[in-house]
Amino acid sequence: MSASLPDTLPDLGQRSNTVTVFAGPCSVESPAQFEEAAACVAGLGLSWIRGGAYKPRTNSHSFQGLGERALQIMRAEGFERHGLRTLTEAMDADLVDMVASYVDGLQVGARNFQNFSLLRKVGAVAAREDRLVMFKRGFAGTIEEWLAAAEYVRLEGCERIMLCERGIRTFETSTRFTLDISAVPVVHKQSAYPICVDVSHAAGQRDLVPALARAAVAAGADALMVEVHPDPARAKSDGAQQLTLPQFEHLIAELRAIAAALGKRIV
Ligand code: PEP
Ligand code: MN
Repeated sequence: MSASLPDTLPDLGQRSNTVTVFAGPCSVESPAQFEEAAACVAGLGLSWIRGGAYKPRTNSHSFQGLGERALQIMRAEGFERHGLRTLTEAMDADLVDMVASYVDGLQVGARNFQNFSLLRKVGAVAAREDRLVMFKRGFAGTIEEWLAAAEYVRLEGCERIMLCERGIRTFETSTRFTLDISAVPVVHKQSAYPICVDVSHAAGQRDLVPALARAAVAAGADALMVEVHPDPARAKSDGAQQLTLPQFEHLIAELRAIAAALGKRIV
């Protein structure tokens, strides 16, 4: 496990000159699938990889994730083989210690936005183990409620908190969710937290992902989350929104140009 988190991540209250990319598959499906994604991410000089081990699926019959086996794969293929930091969702307070023993970042998902006992537990474990907490906005949550909920994490002593805008429910149905790009400047204005934008879960369709990613970087996001898969057609979850690896490489090249115009680096 990593000794400490990369110094490119902004601390609470700091605006950094980097845009940290959290790319990787929706779900960890096999060592080969995850390794292929990790090789691409590391080859682009990026520092983090994401992957789902415990999946909060709307339908109980859908793929639920490989659980601890996925965490072992993330550590072996992501961290040990490719030197990447790893981010995964913790869904269950009872499993947070175990999850944190494998990964560098703990995600709280949109569906657990106001699960205060989980937020407290994640905050306490992250503070103790120096892990990043990626805190997603609930899809019916206001920014005020989001900041209030983040306080449950912070009060446990955790200072490595990143908020993640991932789209909210509106009357619009042409995208999976409506990306609230305003959340970027509003969070910066109202809080000390760095903000990530998850463009994949907002878009729901891969052809919309690049435009949203370019907009997020241009709006001043501190980080970006993008789902990528070596073979999206065979993905066990969220196949329609995951970029292929060549599409992702192309996107990163575009984002580097936008970031450079803002005096920032993509990492
Ligand atoms: C995810 O990032 O894997 C995920 C399930 O996202 P969200 O909680 O935003 O739906
Ligand atoms: Mn997903």
